Amino acid sequence: MSTSRSGNHPSGRPSVAGKRTVHGSGSASKYSRDSYVGRRSSSPSARRTIGGSSVAHDADDAARMAGGTGRQGAIADASDTGRYSVAPDPSSTGRYAADRYAGRSSSGRPSVRSGRTNTRRSGTSYEPLFDESADGIGRSIRRRRALTRGVIALAAIAVAIGGVVFFMSNAPITVSVNGNSIDLSGAKTVQAAFEAAGEPAKAGNLVDVEGATLEEGKGYQFSFAVNGQPGTDPTSPLKEGDAVVFSDGGDIEEESDSTDEPIPHETVDQGYGPIHMVDNPGADGVKTTKTGKISGKTVTQTTAEPQDRVYRRYYPDTGEDKVVALTFDDGPWDTSTAEILDILKANDAKATFFTVGNRIDDSTADLIKREVAEGHQVCTHTWDHAAGSGQGVNLSFMSKDEQREEITKGMKAISDVTGQEASKVIRSPGGNFPTEVWMNVEDLITAEIGWDIDTEDWRKPGSDAIAQAIKCATPGDVILMHDGGGDRSETVEALKEALPYLKKQGFRFITIDELMQYPKKDI
Ligand SMILES: [Zn+2]
Repeated sequence: MSTSRSGNHPSGRPSVAGKRTVHGSGSASKYSRDSYVGRRSSSPSARRTIGGSSVAHDADDAARMAGGTGRQGAIADASDTGRYSVAPDPSSTGRYAADRYAGRSSSGRPSVRSGRTNTRRSGTSYEPLFDESADGIGRSIRRRRALTRGVIALAAIAVAIGGVVFFMSNAPITVSVNGNSIDLSGAKTVQAAFEAAGEPAKAGNLVDVEGATLEEGKGYQFSFAVNGQPGTDPTSPLKEGDAVVFSDGGDIEEESDSTDEPIPHETVDQGYGPIHMVDNPGADGVKTTKTGKISGKTVTQTTAEPQDRVYRRYYPDTGEDKVVALTFDDGPWDTSTAEILDILKANDAKATFFTVGNRIDDSTADLIKREVAEGHQVCTHTWDHAAGSGQGVNLSFMSKDEQREEITKGMKAISDVTGQEASKVIRSPGGNFPTEVWMNVEDLITAEIGWDIDTEDWRKPGSDAIAQAIKCATPGDVILMHDGGGDRSETVEALKEALPYLKKQGFRFITIDELMQYPKKDI
């Protein structure tokens, strides 16, 4: 308790007196506890445990030999109790009791145990008697004389060391001040060097909130660097050979009352490309208005510039990597999804499926599970393709609440089947994702994905046309296809032709998450 109080000293640095008090009381209680423990360890009850058997043994033996009842043990214990409870000089009683006991024991059949027990008793109880003897006093005086001689010797050594330290600390040193050598014989600090060099720098001024001088020379006295390292404390010590460079002190601004106001940040759309994500979260700026306490002048300054929130569209920079992202919308679909999964597997291709939530039911759940199991990325393409309001496949035709629900319900449909949290990457129906929709749902998603190549497979242009579109891929492209929403047999046929072709060209087929690992192209 005392310790924690000293730790909580308001200054955070317990006073010396406080420390002593705490330590002292701690020691006192420790010692008193120790002496208590000491007593207990050689107390009758303790001895009963250690020596008790020997006492009983001896007593039994004695009783057997004397034909008594073995009460000696009890007598010895009683005398012990007396010895420890009577102060300050109960030892004689104890001694005699112990002697009597020992005598009786030895006159009976002394055991090694009883001898050991008695020795220990005499060790604690006889010592004070010896100390009071003439021999004890003489020894004590000799001990004190030896101690005195030791103290004198130590004091002499301390004085000698002190003298050397005193001499060393007072020996002059030479330092360089702005390139000139200066000897310092008294204080050896930065401040002393400044004074010894005749104040080689000019003090700054006290200025008002507009920067106009109120009082000359009332600013910072100087700024400095020692051996090239800028310093702040002029009482810093210097040593032989240090190079100090002083420069003029800075101004100090008058005290002022100030108020801060936020400067709202702006929202900007930036860039082009198939990956859409918030690039910079943005932050409000700060405008500070202050009124000088001396000058009474009021100024307003921007103390922190606002940071724009950037809605960024970008192309991934895949460098030399020939990678493309195949994406399939509007599934899962009873027949085509499985066929597409087979073709992907045959070509070591990973793809991303943008699923429609209300198409995920008992009959299609296995397709979603298979997509996950085979390493594809499963994302939402909203709950009902944004058709819930009956106004078409466009989130921006829906209320803000409906927009959010389209995404949360779409994600839940996936996680209900997979048992895992759904990807926060989405594709908006029809690719309609204006910034106002984005701002409304941005906390629900990490990215919205567009495309570089639209195969227009949903128009059913024939498998050759779809295959040609896929074959035109360049590194980093996102390719839009559909595994649902109608008969996708043309898409299936096109993939059978185009994937082996691209693979032969050295392309790999990766997921959107993998594509997003690449840096942004700066366009
Ligand atoms: Zn769609």
